[in-house]
Amino acid sequence: MPPPFSLNTPIEELYKYRLAHFGQTLSHKLALNIASHFGKKDYHNATVEDLLSYLPMRYEDRSNPAHIRDLTEGMEASLELVVKIAGAFQVKNRRSLGRSSLFIFEVNATDPEKTGRPLVVWWFVSGKHAHDIVSYYTKRFTRGARFITFGRWEWDKHRATFSLKLNKPADELEMLPAEIGNESSDRKKSQETTTDEVIGLDAGNSGDPALAVIHTGRRVPIYRKLGELSSKRMREIVHAVLAMLPDSAFTETLPADLCQRQKLLARAAAMRQIHFPPEDVPLALYAQSRSPAHFRLIFEDFFWVALGISLKRGKRISEAKGTVIKLDQATKVRIGSVLPFKLTDAQRRVVKEIFRDLKSNTPMNRLLQGDVGSGKTIVALIAMLAAMESGYQTALMAPTEILAEQHARNIKRLLAKSPYRVELLTGSLRAAEKRKLQVELAAGEIHACIGTHALIQESVSFKNLGLAVIDEQHRFGVMQRAELRARGFNPDVLIMTATPIPRSLTMTIYGDLDVSVIDEMPPGRTPIETRVFGEEQRPDVKKLISTEVRAGRQVYVVYPLVEESEKMDLKDATRRYEYLRDQVFPKLSVGLVHGKMKTAEKDQVMRRFVAGEIQILVSTTVIEVGVDVPNASVMIVEHAERFGLSQLHQLRGRVGRGAEKSYCVLLTSDKKTSVAKERLGIMAQTNDGFIIAEKDLELRGPGELLGTKQSGLPEFRVANLVRDQQFLEGARKEAEFYLAKGEKSPETAKMIQRATADTRFGLAAVG
Ligand code: ADP
Ligand code: MG
Repeated sequence: MPPPFSLNTPIEELYKYRLAHFGQTLSHKLALNIASHFGKKDYHNATVEDLLSYLPMRYEDRSNPAHIRDLTEGMEASLELVVKIAGAFQVKNRRSLGRSSLFIFEVNATDPEKTGRPLVVWWFVSGKHAHDIVSYYTKRFTRGARFITFGRWEWDKHRATFSLKLNKPADELEMLPAEIGNESSDRKKSQETTTDEVIGLDAGNSGDPALAVIHTGRRVPIYRKLGELSSKRMREIVHAVLAMLPDSAFTETLPADLCQRQKLLARAAAMRQIHFPPEDVPLALYAQSRSPAHFRLIFEDFFWVALGISLKRGKRISEAKGTVIKLDQATKVRIGSVLPFKLTDAQRRVVKEIFRDLKSNTPMNRLLQGDVGSGKTIVALIAMLAAMESGYQTALMAPTEILAEQHARNIKRLLAKSPYRVELLTGSLRAAEKRKLQVELAAGEIHACIGTHALIQESVSFKNLGLAVIDEQHRFGVMQRAELRARGFNPDVLIMTATPIPRSLTMTIYGDLDVSVIDEMPPGRTPIETRVFGEEQRPDVKKLISTEVRAGRQVYVVYPLVEESEKMDLKDATRRYEYLRDQVFPKLSVGLVHGKMKTAEKDQVMRRFVAGEIQILVSTTVIEVGVDVPNASVMIVEHAERFGLSQLHQLRGRVGRGAEKSYCVLLTSDKKTSVAKERLGIMAQTNDGFIIAEKDLELRGPGELLGTKQSGLPEFRVANLVRDQQFLEGARKEAEFYLAKGEKSPETAKMIQRATADTRFGLAAVG
């Protein structure tokens, strides 16, 4: 007898419970696939609970299938169909010279009630095994065979009927069992079973009426094919698993009063209903992930993440930082005397917030958000001065060397008359120089050290690091407090970002950070005019460049640098540079800067651009972050469609820094694609970084927006940060409510225990 069946039962042992004609081999395969889907390293740990977290990608109402007569052009619908005739024809493929073959497989079918002309469902078959696959399909789609298929129906003029092209037949088409009672074709040769699983249209178990009723005449979940397991097979397995689990097997993770307040389904009901929608909930809600089952599970996801983050934050706040920064009036006056301009109200406000953190006993962990050009650097410098005034060392880390150099240059200039020593420490220094700086840093002789991340990653030691400023720009999440702490520092930390981060993200990923926002630009800026141009408008671009340069301004021309094809893109930028220099603007001074250049070379080109000796600077995205040349008034972005919105916004922020009117030209060869149109259109419409960030989040998702997979994004099983952000705040409030009760409340104590055990929050490792 196997142990009692539960959510914790390993998937590889499913076969022991004799469900859904489920053998040992299939159990093993399912365990492997589920483990890899959820990023579990060890498939032995893939459990029934994981299996139930593999959610349907959509749902079909098979109790009420659509009919041919209901179809309209472009309509998405699933239809139950009966094959009239099916077959393949080879597509002439001159290039392959007959080596590999390309077929179109076409099925002519009608609905059982024959409500309209037979329609056509077709798809391509190609590759080495195309012949075998075609013959497999031919055997399956015999006259009278039944199937259900889903997709966008289009009117085919020539045939005067609807047709549907499938991209992935395995996900979009499902064979139905032969009419019940007809048990003929069930026993297949083992070889055929394999093809079945590979292609994923298995009509398997067509003779078992108990299984047949799972697939027809009701609402059914459609799963994405998982390895060799078809949607249909997954449905049978999930159905069987759910049937074996009594409600009591689903441990309720949320307190009863919370469920009541938020009107949440019990966990058991939610898990059942998210797979098999009940009749009384409109399927449209399911399509939008807004069914009661979805809501309950989304809320649960958010609740635990919110609780985990609050706990983490609580831990930091209870830590003492050991450094004491004093900020008396005299200190403030000394700091003020260094400033080259009057701060904006927004800058003053965030400085106040930072000062409050610096004076407190708990380590600062603050995120400073401010659009490109809003003046974050000076705020950072003020914070650094405050720490240095109390005798602490400070570090400023920038994402690129160019930027570190620029910061060093500016800060050295501003502090030239102060007693503080500022040094630049980057990877490209000569070894002897570096060693010398390291010794001086360890001795406390350098007060402000500016560099790239190498600053804390290499064998650098400080005598008394009091404040670390991280100018992450938009490359976020790479460096966190934890990393500093791992190196034995526990300073105040200020992270700056120019990507306005949507609130849903600050609440989750950056939930452990306090947030300050500079929402005001320094005075005297004229808005930037943004235009989207196609290839045919190059002459206009040339004219714009000439006019601006003649008026004494400078121009950026930026090329994307995509990692996979770095070399090619580099050639692209280099070739364009030569072309611009020799053919288009022979009388102007054109410069080139890219990431593969030596720092000294780069620095030299940048210096000449800053000095105004170079009028047109061609570059790859190295200049994207932070470069500050107020005289530049034109930003040309080549292949603009290849950049993300936030990136484009960054690039645009390079101009419009002076009082002159500035221009941003987004060049694109495919103005037509909808993404490009939508994305670039937004750029033309607004200069507001927050709107752009929200849109970017919507279009590309949080992982992309933040630029890394290692962005520290918590993994949700059901919730989606973009789609479901409206529920985040409610879940956060509930989490706070329970935490406020303190650990003396047994309920809260249990919750804390649960969150601590959850590896997603990394709480166990923290103190
Ligand atoms: P970012 O927030 O993008 O890092 P910077 O700190 O580089 O912006 O500032 C952009 C430009 O605005 C710089 O040239 C800086 O000297 C200038 N600046 C910043 N704050 C003010 C201010 N209060 N008044 C006038 N100019 C300012
Ligand atoms: Mg900056």
